[in-house]
This record gives sequence, structure tokens and C-alpha cells, in this order.
Amino acid sequence: MTAPRTDWSRQEVAAIYTLPVFELLHRAQSVHRKHFQPGEIQVSTLLSIKTGGCPEDCGYCAQSAHHHTDVKAEKLLPLATVVARARQAQAGGATRFCMGAAWRQARAGGEFEQVLAMVRAVSGLGLETCCTLGMLTEEQARRLKAAGLHAYNHNIDSAEEFYGHVVTTRTYAERLATIAAVRKAGITVCTGGILGMGESEAHRVGLLHRLATFDPQPESVTVNMLVPIKGTPMADQPPVSPIVVARVIATARVLMPRALVRLSAGRTQLSPEAHLLCFYAGANSIFAGERLLTAPNPERDADAKLFENLGLKAMPRDTRTADAGGLGGAAAEG
Ligand code: SF4
Repeated sequence: MTAPRTDWSRQEVAAIYTLPVFELLHRAQSVHRKHFQPGEIQVSTLLSIKTGGCPEDCGYCAQSAHHHTDVKAEKLLPLATVVARARQAQAGGATRFCMGAAWRQARAGGEFEQVLAMVRAVSGLGLETCCTLGMLTEEQARRLKAAGLHAYNHNIDSAEEFYGHVVTTRTYAERLATIAAVRKAGITVCTGGILGMGESEAHRVGLLHRLATFDPQPESVTVNMLVPIKGTPMADQPPVSPIVVARVIATARVLMPRALVRLSAGRTQLSPEAHLLCFYAGANSIFAGERLLTAPNPERDADAKLFENLGLKAMPRDTRTADAGGLGGAAAEG
């Protein structure tokens, strides 16, 4: 199978994004069926292993020490707690377990060693392991890979020209450098953005263009909707329309045919009908569990009911590796 195109121009991306919606959905669904089993959804679980007190000033985030929110800074969770939560997630049907820490960059020394132990233990349970720990050096990425890490999440949030409205304590270039370190270490890349932060349609196109022109493309693409949180600069942003979310997902599906497209934060804002639209547009991964780091998420029962009503089933483990240009062994996903 030939590798997906990575030389998209911004105009080409805009032309896909602005197609009449039925045309766009039809294209996305056709592409989706070539690469995945329709109706199979990957179920991931995300655990906050170190909550709050983050020195970054991301305008959407409850965990930033710059904002006055209800989230209190906590210490890194003990290994036993993390393993117990991973077992629980596995029993609930999750195949991927993500661990998030509110750090500007992964810590050196003891705390990093503890995270490595968590990665080893969670991988040892047979779960795909993912981390999001902030910026990483190449050496840290190599050590995470050696510990068994399957994926690293590092979102680019939006188009580069809008990034200064989202965060001022780090640059887009720093974001890209961490993604490059992850790729170089042979860890699969999970990245994406957030909709509803006040960005324009052109910025959404810019985000999709940046994602689709990574070479190789990310194995997982997260599509988040802003969850407005009291005390953050983005608390009063109006909700983004599910039709916009579906457009972004469908465009991502056309541009990045082999990526898992993960409907992430903000699912509590989506009705069952809006979920259906997003899955039809090509989303094939969700986070399950009542909380997504510090934001609310649909309860497991609600998701189980949704899966049953829509005839969806959980996708088996992702067996791709990042070694063969990021897309080796995609067959497990149909
Ligand atoms: S999004 Fe991540 S880096 Fe930004 S403030 Fe929140 S925890 Fe820190």
C-alpha cells in the first residue's frame, strides 16, 4: 500500500474542508472504509498521573498555575494506583491506556524514573501505553521507547498563526521539536488540536494542513472541543457546532486515511446524533471514563449504550509500529 500524501497545499486542504457537506462526508466515509472496519472504534482511557500546578499558560487548561480554577496541584500518583487504574480500564474494555502529567517538560531524575516504571507495568498488562508529559528530549523519548511506550501525545492545538492566542509560555517550534524527538525514537505520534477557542475557519484549515503534512503522518489525531472552564481565559467561548467538528474530522480522514481519529475532550457537549455524525465522518477512537484529565467525559454506561444503539464495537489493539515510516503493519485495523 502506498504511503499517504504529505505534500498537501493549504489551498487543497481548504478546498476539501469547504466541500458541500454531503460530498465531504461521502469522500470521508469512502476513504474510511478502505482503511478501517466500519463501526470499529478504539477505546482509550486517560489517567492524570500528576494533576495541576503546571507552569504553562494554555488558555483552555484548568491545570495551569496561571489561572484561578478549582484544580489543586497534586503529586505524581504512586505506581500501585496507576496499575490498579490500568487494570480497571482494561476490564472496562480499553485497549490503550494514556497517562498525562501537567508538566512543562518531562522531569529529569526520580519522577521520570517513576514514569518509566509505570510505562513498563502498564505495557506488561498487555495494554498499549501512551504518555503526555510535556516537552521531551531525544534521550527521554529513547528511554520511554525502551520502557515499552507505544504512543506519545503532544497536541499542536491550532494553526501556527493562532498559537500565540492559545499559549505564550512556549512556541510552536518547541512543540514540533518534541514531536520530532518522539518520531526519531520510534514511538508512534498522537497529536491534534482543539476547536472552539475563538479560531477562524482558516485557522482550522491551518491546523489540518500542519497535521497532514507531517512526514510520516501521525498515527493518531485528536480532535478536541473546548470544555470552557471557569477561571480560564477561554471560559466564555461559545460552543463549537457539531457540524464544524464533523467537517474537521471528515477532512482529517480524507487527508490522513490511516490515522486513528480520536474524538477527545468535549464529548459531553455532543448528543448521540452528533456522535453518530462524527463517527460517520471518520472518527474511530474515543476516550472512555468519567473524566478526561480534569474535564468531564460521558460515563461508561452512556458510551456502552451508544455503542449498542449504533452497532459499534471495540477495535482490537493497534499493532502498528513507528519504525516503518510510522505506518507499518496497519493491517490490524482492516
Ligand atoms: S495543557 Fe498541558 S501544558 Fe498546558 S497548562 Fe495544561 S497541563 Fe500545562
